[in-house]
Amino acid sequence: MKKQKHKKIAKPALESKPGSRKLNLRPSTARAILTKAAGTNPQRVHAILEKLDEAYPDVTCALVHENPFQLLISTILSAQCTDVRVNLVTKELFKKYRTPKDFAYADPNELEQDIRPTGFFRNKTKSIIGASKKLLEEFAGEVPRTMEEVLTLPGAARKTANVVLGTAYGIASGVVVDTHVARLSERLDLSRNTDPRKIEQDLMKIIPREKWILFSHQLIWHGRKICQARKPRCAECNLERLCYSSDKTV
Ligand code: SF4
Repeated sequence: MKKQKHKKIAKPALESKPGSRKLNLRPSTARAILTKAAGTNPQRVHAILEKLDEAYPDVTCALVHENPFQLLISTILSAQCTDVRVNLVTKELFKKYRTPKDFAYADPNELEQDIRPTGFFRNKTKSIIGASKKLLEEFAGEVPRTMEEVLTLPGAARKTANVVLGTAYGIASGVVVDTHVARLSERLDLSRNTDPRKIEQDLMKIIPREKWILFSHQLIWHGRKICQARKPRCAECNLERLCYSSDKTV
């Protein structure tokens, strides 16, 4: 008896670009299929995490600090400023102001000048003095250990809280979403949102909780070194075979 020939059906290739002609689908349809099949597919997410672990096994926050309070101050200063510049400023700042009390009762005009190179120095001064006072008045001068409490400090939004809780205390309350994490989440098709809060929610659903802290640092380092905003260095990227971003340069 003759074997019946089966027609070959093309499968969506995980590593092909959305809108691949092989599927003969409209780009939007192909992209929708790829989103379900590829974007946040647990196997693909696992493969991305493995590649990040290979490239960045033990990265951490680049802000130089000696305790949770210094990290809080540095993170407030890092808004719209590079970590390198923040570290230059805090090198002298933390010699001059050593405790929450020193910052809480600092002369605002003087503190403004001390942190001026980090930009937005008037608002940052208000946040630093306000946060230091709140720590003294309500938390015995210690940075608290819950998201809810950290969010009550002036100048501390979820990003700051996640940095401080994750890096200083090893508490995984969420995923840090800064400009690098937002860009890479979009390029790697891990989130279709642009609002950092929503991106964080998307990432928290697909990344295992025990990886939240390291994963944030890994994406930040990858964003700085390889997947740069203007011209990603895709030829050097170990995620290249898993990435179908339209920004790819290879
Ligand atoms: S392949 Fe290019 S765009 Fe994709 S993650 Fe790597 S550097 Fe970024």
